[in-house]
Amino acid sequence: MKWNRFASIPVCGVLMVMGVVYYITIFIFIEDWVGLATSAGTLNAVIFTFMAALSLFSFAVSVLTDPGYVPSSSAPDVEAASVLDPETQKDSSQLRQCEKCARYKPPRAHHCRVCRVCVLRMDHHCLWINNCVGYWNYKAFIVLVFYATAASIYSTVVMMISSIHKDWDFAEVLPFKIFYILSGAMMAGLSITLGTLLGWHIYLITRNMTTIEYHEGTRAAWLAKKSGQIYRHPFNITVYANISSVLGPNMLKWFCPTAVSHLKDGTSFPTSHQS
Ligand SMILES: [Zn+2]
Ligand SMILES: [Zn+2]
Repeated sequence: MKWNRFASIPVCGVLMVMGVVYYITIFIFIEDWVGLATSAGTLNAVIFTFMAALSLFSFAVSVLTDPGYVPSSSAPDVEAASVLDPETQKDSSQLRQCEKCARYKPPRAHHCRVCRVCVLRMDHHCLWINNCVGYWNYKAFIVLVFYATAASIYSTVVMMISSIHKDWDFAEVLPFKIFYILSGAMMAGLSITLGTLLGWHIYLITRNMTTIEYHEGTRAAWLAKKSGQIYRHPFNITVYANISSVLGPNMLKWFCPTAVSHLKDGTSFPTSHQS
């Protein structure tokens, strides 16, 4: 856990956006629509507060959890390497060495130029959490994107309903109209951005791919095609096995960012050849 990761402008920016969205959704949109004192207003405020709290908690977990670094005792799994076929060995269990760390790099680990260290099952370095997204915090990251998307869509819908129900015939509504339009554009933009990111990672999870592996795979598929072969991502087992390798075997814990007891050491992964 590294609390100093919060000392970054993008991380503070995310917290600020969360605070602003929370404030305007509760105290302007819900208040304007049904009023917070009504039972409908209270119910909506409670639901949105719950979503915001889950987003904030997942965000904190993503920031504070170390993504997973290569243990000093890590050594190549010679047995696994001998089982894999030539194209797989090339991408996973080949005896990989990090030039910068001058040590063995397990399958799916990559060197992060920002963190200056090799990260296990590295997905990408995320500026918004000031941390690498890797083996130990990938689940928290996905769950964060899920809750943030849900909260963002919820806020957009509340705002739309609120603006439909609003009586716009007041004399001094122009600044308020501008405020509504700007908020609407911000919330719609945020919902689309987060929704796209969520859709992208759902696609990657169902195929057991990291963002890095997706790009590597595109290149490998192109090279394989040139030589008349077909490239298969080695860690893609079955859709359910792929999903549970990230979110865990218990569906009830899929949306809990701290439920990661299914994770092992992050240096070896089952491949489709072993199943
Ligand atoms: Zn390295
Ligand atoms: Zn990094």
